[in-house]
Amino acid sequence: MADQAFVTLATNDNYAKGAMVLARSLRNHHTTSKLVVLTGPQVSDPCQSVLKKLFDEVRVVDVLDSKDTAHLAMMKRPDLGVTFTKLHCWTLTHYSKCVFMDADTLVVSNIDDLFEREELSAAPDPGWPDCFNTGVFVFQPSMATYEKLMQYSAEHGSFDGGDQGVLNGFFSSWATTDISKHLPFIYNLSSIALYTYLPAFKQYGGNAKVVHFLGQMKPWSLTFDPKAQKVRGGSQDAVASHSSFLLDWWTLYSREVLPLLQEHYGDQPFHSGCLVFHTLPWLVFNRSHLFASSIVQEEECQEASAAASEASRLSSEERRERWERGQADYMGEDSFENIQKKLDAFLK
Ligand code: UDP
Ligand code: MN
Repeated sequence: MADQAFVTLATNDNYAKGAMVLARSLRNHHTTSKLVVLTGPQVSDPCQSVLKKLFDEVRVVDVLDSKDTAHLAMMKRPDLGVTFTKLHCWTLTHYSKCVFMDADTLVVSNIDDLFEREELSAAPDPGWPDCFNTGVFVFQPSMATYEKLMQYSAEHGSFDGGDQGVLNGFFSSWATTDISKHLPFIYNLSSIALYTYLPAFKQYGGNAKVVHFLGQMKPWSLTFDPKAQKVRGGSQDAVASHSSFLLDWWTLYSREVLPLLQEHYGDQPFHSGCLVFHTLPWLVFNRSHLFASSIVQEEECQEASAAASEASRLSSEERRERWERGQADYMGEDSFENIQKKLDAFLK
């Protein structure tokens, strides 16, 4: 529907990657609604370009620059920076109904039925089920509500320091008044449920419609080994326990988002001899900033060749450090052949 939208927020390139995967997951599950992303000025130009490809609307929100109530509220509560940006979603008044989704959510089934719900519909928070979790919520854009929210947050702040505290304070009757505003947990299934209620997760987890990678460990801070089809890094327990959802995220990211990013970073000079390596660093080393590290620029390549003869004398730890500085020995120790051998040995 043209007057309904899924809205997300990404104030930096990492969350932008999450937003890109979310957009693809919504489209792959055939949503008929518009897709909107709110971004901040820190999001790089290539990421902005990819967001423009994947979303119907990209709105740069800079609460510091704005002349409206958000700016005033911000002066009073500088601690709530990202929160104010998120609350900006209420200003999207060219839509009659919206669903906000965190950039760390992934849609695994069509959820357009959410637009039949009213403001404010949300799923319980797994940590305190009398509060709703603000990773997924249905809302109705309105300048009047927006102004009230701004005023509320400037006056009362947030009991948890983020948007969830503000919104639960503002929509405080959610827990007790109208059960139709309680979304089933499968619309915002946080991976935390695995630890808190494993049998229920086993019983119902398969019905998930939205997965939420809530907490410190985000999919983009891990690494993916496409050959082994495994996600690595972070706490091994955490990775192992929700590996199938993480794998879904990474499969979508590497198949449908990474090629777009590579296209848009493509104006930067690539050394043809290094192209073959462009996806390898994150296979071999446990890097968190995957994309930055997966681009090898020409100068770095030349520097790398110069370092080649010296590299053979270096320990593996030193070589890794050099690699991370972009000074890999592409023609010697770090050649494609050697990397392949190392990978094969590792996978065996
Ligand atoms: N967010 C953002 N930039 C930040 C932090 C958060 O854009 O630096 C947005 C993003 O959409 C994110 C949401 O705010 O999904 C809520 O933060 P997060 O998901 O990290 O919180 P959690 O769900 O883990 O409590
Ligand atoms: Mn989240």
